[in-house]
Amino acid sequence: MDTTDLAARIARGERRALARGITLVESARADHQAQGAEVIAALPRERQALRIGLSGTPGVGKSTFIEAFGMMLITQGLRVAVLAVDPSSTRSGGSILGDKTRMDRLSREPAAFIRPSPSRTHLGGVARRTREAVALCEGADFDVVLIETVGVGQSETVVAQMADVFLLLLAPAGGDELQGVKRGIMEMADMILINKADGDLKAAATRTCADYAGALRLLRKRPQDPEGFPRAMMVSALAEEGLEAAWADMQGLVDWRRAEGFFDATRAAQARYWFEEEVREALLAQLRDADVRDAMDALAAQVAEGALTPVVAARELVQTHLRRKDAV
Ligand code: GDP
Repeated sequence: MDTTDLAARIARGERRALARGITLVESARADHQAQGAEVIAALPRERQALRIGLSGTPGVGKSTFIEAFGMMLITQGLRVAVLAVDPSSTRSGGSILGDKTRMDRLSREPAAFIRPSPSRTHLGGVARRTREAVALCEGADFDVVLIETVGVGQSETVVAQMADVFLLLLAPAGGDELQGVKRGIMEMADMILINKADGDLKAAATRTCADYAGALRLLRKRPQDPEGFPRAMMVSALAEEGLEAAWADMQGLVDWRRAEGFFDATRAAQARYWFEEEVREALLAQLRDADVRDAMDALAAQVAEGALTPVVAARELVQTHLRRKDAV
């Protein structure tokens, strides 16, 4: 496997090479992962895509939105990649995100690249793979990388921590409730898009949008937000309405953050976050080693008998049984 050659082909925009690169970083095999890392290291570093995270429950219109929004970006001459973070895809037996059959027009566009969610339950694994896939797409000179999630477990946090702009897609609510959207998720959003603002649903969408605009105003102001953000707005992915306005708002937000230094600062903070996550993952992986498990079981038995205190036993495990070198 010539990783330099693969990187060169990815950098030239060869989609099959990009797909191959992502397969490497997705692989469970250590040698493939190492090759994937080599490919990423060999890509042009100066390339940067706008990373847009998109979350929403099933049925809210994510794929319809991505298709319409992606097509609009392509019409403007941009190249668009779509990735997915879906920790549940193994359980459901197939991916429900990033499915090409749900993005029929976009999947046939030469300027688009769609990669379904890998089947892996472990969110840490999905997160790493997605970050590396983002890096590969940036190296392949995509202008926009859309990262889609359904928000199972911590997947919203995962996506928000790798996105420059985080969008929450909601459907018009029937009643006056805020659809049980968790406060933590609202706090991550840069823009809440109320989708399906068309036909019979238009009135409900208008109410829902006003409710969320009100709720967003009550949140503590974040330094990385200009006046008017985070904001709620209406779109119709189906009627392709409001998409240009949403894109203009995203660009305005990003331009402001770049000018004020928040764009780079956020990326730096994200890199630090993922470094710390990788350290945690590596330590947890050590606890799953058979030898360490055996030592832990033996120490646990002594703790249960009262022969050792939990603190002394834990110290013994960490100091004697965890590797100090080659830990990662
Ligand atoms: P996802 O599960 O979040 O990806 O949702 P889909 O994109 O598959 O959409 C779920 C359903 O909502 C489909 O029947 C879509 O046609 C419909 N839908 C999506 N966007 C809109 C919209 O803007 N307006 C209306 N009326 N229906 C929509």
